[in-house]
Amino acid sequence: MAKYAAADACSAVVWQNRDLPEFIVETRTSGAPIGSIRKYLADAYRSQVIRKLVTDKRGAYSWLEDPDIDWKRSAQLALNRNRKVRKVQQFAVRCRRALFADMQTRYQRQHTAYWAKRYGNVRVPNEHCPSCNEVDDRFHFLSCAAHAYIRAKITRKVTAALNRHRPQPSESVPAFWDPENSPPCDSPLSESIMAYSIVDAARGIVPRSFSLFVEEQVQPNTDTDALLAEIQLLIVSRLRKCWTKRCKTLFGYLRSLQPQQESQGPRVGESRVERIKRKLYAERGEQPPD
Ligand SMILES: [Zn+2]
Repeated sequence: MAKYAAADACSAVVWQNRDLPEFIVETRTSGAPIGSIRKYLADAYRSQVIRKLVTDKRGAYSWLEDPDIDWKRSAQLALNRNRKVRKVQQFAVRCRRALFADMQTRYQRQHTAYWAKRYGNVRVPNEHCPSCNEVDDRFHFLSCAAHAYIRAKITRKVTAALNRHRPQPSESVPAFWDPENSPPCDSPLSESIMAYSIVDAARGIVPRSFSLFVEEQVQPNTDTDALLAEIQLLIVSRLRKCWTKRCKTLFGYLRSLQPQQESQGPRVGESRVERIKRKLYAERGEQPPD
């Protein structure tokens, strides 16, 4: 931090105010006095890190600069101490960092030795989604046609969660996690919610406009923080199912491409338990039950 402090503190000068018998630190950029130097340096460090991430990986980290994210509500998932949500938290972080071995990236990288080893020597035959045959880019699994039922279920669950606190039950919710099946925007608020994508939803991002929408809809005595945390967890945990489902489909598809061989080595997508079971049956000379 001291390194960044040195770089950014250069924009802060120490000077003596004529009217006050003390030194005041002010920023050279805005000329405003600095209240807490510790906070000023922490903020400078944070903005430096964000600037570096955004310039290095523009496509992956541009969401960091979005001014209309409700950061306090978005952080609720990461602050959840329940061990049961650990995998959901990990999934949200993977989405924020765009770390998915999608078919397109795998196909382009698998010829290099380093990536072949990272992918467990699993080779993919093309860069198309095994479910719908579209090009499988980084976040295709979220919007894949084969996972439409998962997205529809999120909308149903979120509507039910909201209706528990609405004075009158209603079906309307701007579903930014399922733009194709969301009702048309009828207000500037829902328009600004729908500006967010399903990828933002999977990152666990809560748009400020969505927080406003929920606050407007529910009864005044509702704990909106808890309700939004529930909705956020609901969305991210279901979208995680899109990924686990995609992995199952992919490995099933890769297994179907392999010739039926009786080798003792590991097969594509085979778990350790499955491999041991197969070996045991082979030793007894029996066919494993399907
Ligand atoms: Zn697909």
